[in-house]
Amino acid sequence: MGKTLVQKILSEKLGKEVEAGKIYIFPTDWVFAQDGTGPLAIKVFRELQIEKAFNPSRVVFFLDHASPPPRSELANSHKLIREFCGKIGCLIGEEGDGVCHQIMVEKYSAPGQIIVGADSHTCTSGALSAFATGMGSTDIGVAIALGKVWMKVPSSLNIHLEGRLKEKVTAKDVILYLIGALGASGATYKALEFTGEGVKSLSMDDRLTISNMAVECGAKTGLFPSDEITREYLISMGRENDFREISCAVDAPYEKKVDINLEEVEPMVSLPHSVDNVFKVKEVKNLKIDQVFIGTCTGGRLSDFTKAAWILKGKKVKSRLLIAPGSRKIFLEGEKERVWKTLIEAGGILLPPGCGPCVGIHQGVLADGEACLSSANRNFKGRMGNPEGAIYLASPITCAASALTGYLTDPRETDS
Ligand code: SF4
Repeated sequence: MGKTLVQKILSEKLGKEVEAGKIYIFPTDWVFAQDGTGPLAIKVFRELQIEKAFNPSRVVFFLDHASPPPRSELANSHKLIREFCGKIGCLIGEEGDGVCHQIMVEKYSAPGQIIVGADSHTCTSGALSAFATGMGSTDIGVAIALGKVWMKVPSSLNIHLEGRLKEKVTAKDVILYLIGALGASGATYKALEFTGEGVKSLSMDDRLTISNMAVECGAKTGLFPSDEITREYLISMGRENDFREISCAVDAPYEKKVDINLEEVEPMVSLPHSVDNVFKVKEVKNLKIDQVFIGTCTGGRLSDFTKAAWILKGKKVKSRLLIAPGSRKIFLEGEKERVWKTLIEAGGILLPPGCGPCVGIHQGVLADGEACLSSANRNFKGRMGNPEGAIYLASPITCAASALTGYLTDPRETDS
């Protein structure tokens, strides 16, 4: 029997066949942490009393969650990380460079790699066929020193995609639909592997959004095969040499198969306070929205803002609209295409590249009783800084259509 994509990547790295359910120690290609998890990883690294990182040019710290820092203790964390990176010579994503997962895919991640990050949405790089998974700061501190992690090989669920998305339906709707079907713990310690003709119709931005949210149904990672779209993406990032083709075998041993016809997916929304509390937008529309947030490692790429700009061009929003580009590169490309001008003229507030208000540290904390419609990936109680606020999750297009009306709105009902 052939191998799943997980088995292919991990067996190759180890130089021997791996079996699902068994624990091995794997070498890592990339190890990273962010400003929230980095200080503890540094503490663990120092406790090991090892002077050097396994390979400083393969270790990255990102200053993205509280960037620029709103409080002195967060500024002190940034200072600690900068000093550590300076001392051991590892890479740093500075304030304003963008969200860790977006920078990873732009600059570093490549097919066939093992990537570990002290952040749960590390699985985003699975869109580039990398086995990428989030780990705690302790594992990451050890990985910085040794370049190794212990891990149980996950079994895989096959998410088989057919057809093509209809207008105003996006990858975010696909992954919300899937999480609704599987449940928030429906893929715990499994990998999602996306296959089928439908994969070819999804852009890299689409795949990144889908892989990003694999962890929201408990999955270790969410993998796409690498193909011409992967090659084109890497060429656009100036990294063609990082391309290699890799996919699962036709007879790979999947634990379960889930079929999705992309043509049947509709605009979806996740209601408070759980990501799997998913409905079609048309079933629950007209909920009042005080704030709309378009950004994050899920929905903060150029294509997300471009789609929002189509909806909002020449119009004025009725909800507050916050927009945060996922990276400095996205900001600069959006500037060239005058996307920010359209969104700001519609009433949007442009935030620096980074996580923005996603995790409730700054830049858009909700008031009691307010509701935010967000293109992000989590809506737990208090996620955006106030347990008395409500978070709805939807696509950037649904976010833009709803910002126009002030209510949750099915984007297919707007005339743009
Ligand atoms: Fe986490 Fe949000 Fe930042 Fe993504 S954008 S890394 S989900 S805080």
